[in-house]
Amino acid sequence: MERSKKNYSKDVSPSISSLPDWEVIFKALDGWREDLRRELAAEQKTEKVPGTAELTAVTTVAERYRMDPWAVLASTMLSLRTKDAVTLESSGRLLEKAPDPASLSGLTEEEIARLIYPVGFYRTKAANLKKIAAILLEKYAGKIPADMDTLLSLPGVGRKTANLVLAEAYNLSGLCVDTHVHRISNRAGWVSAKTPNETEQALRIILPERYWKPINPLLVLYGQQLCRPISPFCSCCVIKAHCRQIQTGKTR
Ligand code: SF4
Repeated sequence: MERSKKNYSKDVSPSISSLPDWEVIFKALDGWREDLRRELAAEQKTEKVPGTAELTAVTTVAERYRMDPWAVLASTMLSLRTKDAVTLESSGRLLEKAPDPASLSGLTEEEIARLIYPVGFYRTKAANLKKIAAILLEKYAGKIPADMDTLLSLPGVGRKTANLVLAEAYNLSGLCVDTHVHRISNRAGWVSAKTPNETEQALRIILPERYWKPINPLLVLYGQQLCRPISPFCSCCVIKAHCRQIQTGKTR
């Protein structure tokens, strides 16, 4: 995987200050993403690599369905432990048959499971979607609540899902910490946290709110392409000067 691995880091100091310089970090990540987008466009591969042009699967769904909260909630649930390409295809099949909670409640669990297969844990997700649709219809007139606590009370909805719904559907201050945001934030030494939830709480304190929404799609993409779980490409990392490289193991 050689794309967008120019030697950005050769001119920067390896030192790191105690407070991350977020403006510089986000500018570097944005620039890297622009380069990647240009490379993929030149190769006409953008459509074949969901998420790499700019968007994660959920953000793509949010754009396709004009930030429809049900579409965002359903696709976020499907995205857990599932690759972007599978999430996009399964979300499309599900939302075509069930564009709102009322239409989903008319489907059986088996039908929902068939529509969303092969997303991870498709049977559990089918059961949770069915329960969520019933709750939304019964308590919230079929609308998706726009507050964290109510979202968290829905079956199968954790902080990642709730944050993505708030950010992508309602443009509120959701700060979605998935495995990539958690890993990179801790490797870099921006936070020191054991779980994604702890990382989220720590970032809410040190990260200016204007970066809460963009940090997820940027670091997800960066984690998939460069700051990989195993053997990250540190030699061509655009934010190396802002990273303590904690517990990276073997790097490239
Ligand atoms: S671990 Fe390596 S690739 Fe990841 S952010 Fe730090 S320097 Fe960059």
